[in-house]
Amino acid sequence: MHTYDPLYLFIQGRWLGADGRDTAAVVNPASGAVLGRVPLATAADLDLALDGARDSFDLWRRTAPAERARVLHAAAALMRQRAAHIATQLTLEEGKPLAESRDEVLRAADYFDWFAGEARRIDGRVVPANRPGVQQLVKRQAIGPVAAFTPWNFPAITPARKLAAALAAGCSIILKPGEESPATALALARCLDDAGLPKGVLQVVFGVPDMVSARLIASPVIRKVTFTGSVPVGRLLSERAAAGVKPITLELGGHGPVLVFDDADLDAAASEGAASRFRGTGQICIAPTRFLVQRGAYHRFTERFVAATGRLVVGDGLDEATQVGPLANPRQLAKIAALVEDAVEQGARVLSGGRRLDRPGYFYAPTVLADVPMSARIMHEEPFGPIAVLRPFDTLADGLAEANRLPYALSAYAFTRDARTALDVGDGLEAGMIGINQYRMVATELPFGGMQESGHGSEGGAEGIAHYLTNKFISQI
Ligand code: NAD
Repeated sequence: MHTYDPLYLFIQGRWLGADGRDTAAVVNPASGAVLGRVPLATAADLDLALDGARDSFDLWRRTAPAERARVLHAAAALMRQRAAHIATQLTLEEGKPLAESRDEVLRAADYFDWFAGEARRIDGRVVPANRPGVQQLVKRQAIGPVAAFTPWNFPAITPARKLAAALAAGCSIILKPGEESPATALALARCLDDAGLPKGVLQVVFGVPDMVSARLIASPVIRKVTFTGSVPVGRLLSERAAAGVKPITLELGGHGPVLVFDDADLDAAASEGAASRFRGTGQICIAPTRFLVQRGAYHRFTERFVAATGRLVVGDGLDEATQVGPLANPRQLAKIAALVEDAVEQGARVLSGGRRLDRPGYFYAPTVLADVPMSARIMHEEPFGPIAVLRPFDTLADGLAEANRLPYALSAYAFTRDARTALDVGDGLEAGMIGINQYRMVATELPFGGMQESGHGSEGGAEGIAHYLTNKFISQI
């Protein structure tokens, strides 16, 4: 029997339970059972958190980079030690298979180690002056207290990318994770607290999302906003940040095209494609979603893709054999069912799945839709769930035009054995992240982020710390 951790707000170094506050139920999506209740912050709680972020910022930004790095490395070590426990919390509240939860926790720890190193590499410049006796310095300093908002689908790695970079830069940060999977983020916060992060530098709040973001972003204490989630909410938070002339980093939705050319390794493109499409039950912003296959390979690819989809084991994430878990919540289930229904009405062929599973929890069968007409909603809206869309294309130019048609530009993929084609698609695809002959391309050392309506700003790699720093020059005579 797995136990679920108690839930708190973490404000000014204190772990605060419900204690008269409103609460929201946290539900296990594999069974529908209530796991616990998360306390929702009041306006007074948020004001205390803002005071904590303001008061701790000066201390933390002046803390030696090596000491900031020590705390982040120590927190990463604790995350690894506690990975089995944190992964269980993650699977209970989000539903993904235990092995993927564990992998996510370890990758989250890796971001803390990476940005610990970056903390020690924040440097500046001395610029020769054109006037005698003048010394010109360019410094990069922590931008200030940060408000960060993360979603329910990756409750370890999305907070980790923001926390590790902001803390390495010397910023204090208030994190509002998704209320549907709160225990994982709290477990990361516990690691940072136990590693010796000074009180108030990191605070974690839950609440009514609209109220929390309105209050935090409007506060003069907050100097930087970062959000991962849907395009409409990203747009709203951009407007709120703009009202206070505050920079915002956005990692929003996607509708990842895959161009499979006639000469591709179809086995890899199809079997790894099905695994990648249905990983996380399709609730992954960079997942491949639109499989665009050159006409000569379309039938062979489709057969292989459907066979690989049929081999996937769907079930409770706590079961060792499970490869695909439930959807995270009833909203997701309703949305996915509606997208499939619409596509079928428009004439798409269902080659696999296409139905809810008859069992408790929010399960929907991995679904393959072929020959989906352009009039179907799914050709325009992000299918954040277990649906793969297959369509043929003829020439490179046609394939690129369809791949680039939507305003999303997060991830894109291509499979070909031809070096010229690989160069052309790498150059021509509009996306922040491109995988050629592979789906698993993300790494801690690489910038993670999109373009156009998929957002802006990069969260990993050497680029990931830049937006938590601001430039200042000092000209001294
Ligand atoms: P949603 O738009 O209601 O919420 C997305 C996230 O934003 C959630 O974490 C939510 O708590 C938060 N949020 C919502 N309103 C907010 C507000 N006013 N202020 C601050 N935060 C707010 O959608 P949802 O039903 O939770 O998810 C549906 C869609 O969101 C998905 O279909 C997908 O397109 C997108 N999504 C994207 C990612 C990603 O990794 N980019 C993650 C989760 C969801």
